[in-house]
Amino acid sequence: MTVVVRTVEALRSWRAALPADERVAFVPTMGFLHEGHLSLLREARRRGGHVVLSIFVNPTQFGPGEDYDRYPRDEDGDLAKARDCGVALAFCPLAPEQLYPSRDTWVNVEQLDRHLCGRSRPGHFRGVCTVVCKLLALVQPHVTLLGEKDFQQLAIVRRMHEDLFLPGEIVGMPIVREADGLALSSRNAYLDATTRAQALAIPRLLDRVAAAFAAGERDVTTLCAGAEAALAPGRLDYLEIVDERTLTPLTRIEGPARAAIAAFFGRVRLIDNRMLLP
Ligand code: AMP
Repeated sequence: MTVVVRTVEALRSWRAALPADERVAFVPTMGFLHEGHLSLLREARRRGGHVVLSIFVNPTQFGPGEDYDRYPRDEDGDLAKARDCGVALAFCPLAPEQLYPSRDTWVNVEQLDRHLCGRSRPGHFRGVCTVVCKLLALVQPHVTLLGEKDFQQLAIVRRMHEDLFLPGEIVGMPIVREADGLALSSRNAYLDATTRAQALAIPRLLDRVAAAFAAGERDVTTLCAGAEAALAPGRLDYLEIVDERTLTPLTRIEGPARAAIAAFFGRVRLIDNRMLLP
């Protein structure tokens, strides 16, 4: 049985009533759940204790003109999946005001948001960090599971978690993909057959970079050459190879690195990444 709570008050009461020796595993999401989200919920379940899921399309992480209003939502479907995954509690706030009694307080992680999506989406990670910080304060989890699909988000949340002494442990989970390689994303729902086929250029480009890297190429300009053409008619936002830990763009790969990409297909912006381990 999944308990659904819609207010911060009800979430706090549920959490306060749990015996101190019972564990809580937390999976924050924006809903429209797919196998990527479910892999996090299953791992949370595997770790034992109570699984808490949040479903909240967080307005503060969307910029002007982005897709906040049309972001896909399917609460009934999500709750059915949550039940199947053994979720104990789903927090589905009635309205953003539940989590934002005011909009005066913000959590900002500096440096790590200077590149990649941080540069293309100003303010995005401030919104993400603020909401994740609020959720961790409320849920008080022993473990929080996040996907590597949002690689920069994971790195930034880890930094915030460490710097603010937030509760529990942060665990990163591998990217779940469709059989043809496209990373699962709620935003894939926006794609029609044509743009869905075009979007395969993303995993193909990452495969190409990984293959050249495996063959010994270490020069980033060479590894990334021809990316725009490879993505066309999609539009490349960025393809960068960054240091795995600091997210600093590299010119040459000498330690653990990530190739990270964002591209538009029509109005749909998709992201993906691949680890490059020398
Ligand atoms: P979202 O609902 O898009 O905010 O995602 C919620 C969580 O699910 C985040 O930690 C994401 O990184 C993770 N996630 C989304 N897509 C995938 C995927 N394809 N594989 C693994 N995790 C994912």
